[in-house]
Formats: sequence, C-alpha cells, structure tokens
Amino acid sequence: MLKFTHRFGGPYRHKVMLVIGLTGGIGSGKSTAARILQGLGAEVIDADKVGHEAYAQGTEGWREVVQAFGDGILAESGDVDRKKLGAVVFSDAHALKHLNAILHPRMYTMMKDRLDILREQGSSVAVVEAALLIEANWARLADEIWVVVSPADMVLQRLRRRSGANEESIRARIQSQMTDDKRVSYADVVIENSGTLAELEEQVKASWRLRASRYQENDKGQ
Ligand code: ATP
Repeated sequence: MLKFTHRFGGPYRHKVMLVIGLTGGIGSGKSTAARILQGLGAEVIDADKVGHEAYAQGTEGWREVVQAFGDGILAESGDVDRKKLGAVVFSDAHALKHLNAILHPRMYTMMKDRLDILREQGSSVAVVEAALLIEANWARLADEIWVVVSPADMVLQRLRRRSGANEESIRARIQSQMTDDKRVSYADVVIENSGTLAELEEQVKASWRLRASRYQENDKGQ
C-alpha cells in the first residue's frame, strides 16, 4: 500500500492561505471587523497604513507626490503632511485621481509582497482591509470579498462621535463613495453592522466559522 504520510504531513506540504478582502463605506465598521478577525487568528494588512508607507520620506512615492503637488504639502520634518495633502486632493477630483494614480499601483505591489511573505511564513488566513478594495482594483488580491454595511444614520452618529465632524461633511463623504448596493454586489459575505458591537462580533465569528476556520484546521499536524 502506498504511504502518503511523508508527502502530506512533511515540511514541504503545500499549504493554502485564504485571503479575505474586507471593505465597506466610511465608518461602516471595517477596522472593528478587522480587529475581530485578527483576534480569531487572521493576519491583517491595513491599506491605510500601506498608503502612508507608500509615500514615506525618501521613497520614490514621496518624490512623485512632491513633484505632483509641490512642497507645500510637506511638514517641517519633510514628511508628507496628510492634512495638507488632504486639503489639496479632497477638494479637487482631478488631483485625487492623480494622487491615486501615483499611490494605488505601489500599494498593490506592497500588499501583494506582504501576502507572499505571509504565505511563505505559513499563515492560514490574511485580511486586506481597504475602503477602496473594489474601486482601486485590489479585489484581485483576495480569494473572497467581505463587505461591512451599516445604515447611513448610524454611520453619521458614529463618525460624529469619533471625529466631531459636521453632518454635512460626513454626508458629502458618504455621497462621494461607491454605494453599499454596488459594493454588496461584489460580496461573498455581507456583514450587517446595524446593532451592537457584540452583535457585530457574533456575525464576524459566524462567517469565520463558516468560511475561514477550516484553513486553520490545515495547520494541525504541521
Ligand atoms: P473608516 O473607514 O472611517 O476608518 P471603519 O469602516 O473602519 O471606518 P470603524 O473604525 O471600525 O469603521 O468604526 C467607526 C466607529 O464606529 C468606531 O469608533 C467604532 O468603534 C464604532 N463602531 C463600529 N461598529 C459599531 C457598533 N456596532 N456599535 C457601536 N459602535 C460601533
């Protein structure tokens, strides 16, 4: 009888990592869901953080951003001042498009490299948390897409509490985004964040049990 144990149980056993693309509108609860997934054992890549690294001082991204928008967007330290850059791009759709054209391809490569490293390290589940997962065409990094949705009035309430921003500016940001209906049309999993934090946690855990936990099962015996 053939013995497969050395092939399947040995150090060279092929291991599959699940990549979840986690997205949702502003204030929908993406970061909270990502933290819950992290608690369940997922490795989380936060696209926001990757974005900041993509124009860290001294990088090619930094040079391109300064060339495009001038050194008026720099802090005294020479770092890009996100507030100053935000003031330029959020009031000018063309400028935002230009910034995205500089940053998004770089962010894609950085996230892909990180996923490759996690795969090599034998991780079971990775999460790419990105507000613009679909718009920036990063969904191709993921095996499945999880979308967090939340009623607009709850988002408003949460964001006002979090940032103190006024209702009008929050509504404008919600309006400028892809609609939830459109986002949901890409989703393999929809997480409805319309209740308490405990309820959100329950939903994330239920989806994890259904779709992700078996990737951790593969870990057993290694
Ligand atoms: P953004 O894209 O703006 O960063 P996000 O989608 O990552 O937002 P979170 O940061 O997770 O959203 O949530 C926004 C705020 O709402 C946070 O302060 C969070 O603690 C709170 N929050 C999220 N879900 C709930 C909930 N179900 N009940 C109460 N507060 C919540």
